Amino acid sequence: MTRDRDDAAPPSRRPEQKPATVAPGRVKEVTSVSNPIVKDIRNLALKKHREETGLFLAEGLKLAIDALDAGWQLETLIVARSQLHNELLSKTAARAVSVGADLLEASDKVLAAIARRDNPQSAIGVFRQKAVRAERIDLGRDGLLVVLDRVRDPGNLGTILRTADAAGARGVVLVGECVDPFSLEAVRATMGSIFSVPVARMDEPAFLAMRKGFGGLVVGTHMRGETDYRTPAYGKGATMLVMGNEQSGLSEPLAGACDTLVRIPQVGRADSLNLAVATGLMIFEARRGSLKL
Ligand code: SAM
Repeated sequence: MTRDRDDAAPPSRRPEQKPATVAPGRVKEVTSVSNPIVKDIRNLALKKHREETGLFLAEGLKLAIDALDAGWQLETLIVARSQLHNELLSKTAARAVSVGADLLEASDKVLAAIARRDNPQSAIGVFRQKAVRAERIDLGRDGLLVVLDRVRDPGNLGTILRTADAAGARGVVLVGECVDPFSLEAVRATMGSIFSVPVARMDEPAFLAMRKGFGGLVVGTHMRGETDYRTPAYGKGATMLVMGNEQSGLSEPLAGACDTLVRIPQVGRADSLNLAVATGLMIFEARRGSLKL
């Protein structure tokens, strides 16, 4: 195990556009937020840098362990040096090194700067993103696929991924210009489900083409839907559940591609439900026959 000094010159970038980093599986102490490695990691808060590098950040020891268990590629694990007495943290740090990840033992100040939070976690992982093809998501005989039209809010997306995971949906497809599922806020809101739910992205024409070849039930949600959301015969075969954008709802082409448009009845003054809440109700209704205590 090699220990490099914080003020050592950063090694040159690797060919696959990883941020400046130490050699694989090596350990480095960092105490300065202006260290170039820390700067590169902090830049992953920006979509541009996530796209350029194909990497993203996940905060928290539990998330790092979940991701490693699920086989995600860990590039760098940043751990709080002050908390290395914690057995689980030090074991995970050793595991990170054993899978070839870089280990940064950081000061609390550095961890707080990366997480941009007052109560930073003891560990932050830099992971490689996975690209999933929607056509490859296996719906089996009666699986559920959640389709989101231009979802914009990272908290909504993260909450939906967490809910899809909890209810056993097979995957989530993001159609059109959507928020990045690998943004810090979205990953945070998934509470780890980003590592267990396949997420695919496609544009609207590609989705409409995929829908043409889909033999199951396609249920859209719409504020002008004329069918109660509890009516469709969910679970008899594979189902796609199509949810609209937070501001403008479902696009006309997507609404037109659905077998039925349903609505969740409301009383009171609210025009509509929050997207994540509506999606949660829909997912659990669609999965009702498969979920048991
Ligand atoms: N102004 C938008 C409209 O008229 O469609 C409201 C969009 S709503 C905030 C976002 C999405 O949540 C909707 O497109 C729909 O998918 C879902 N949604 C919200 N409330 C719903 C309800 N009562 N019934 C069915 N879907 C609902």
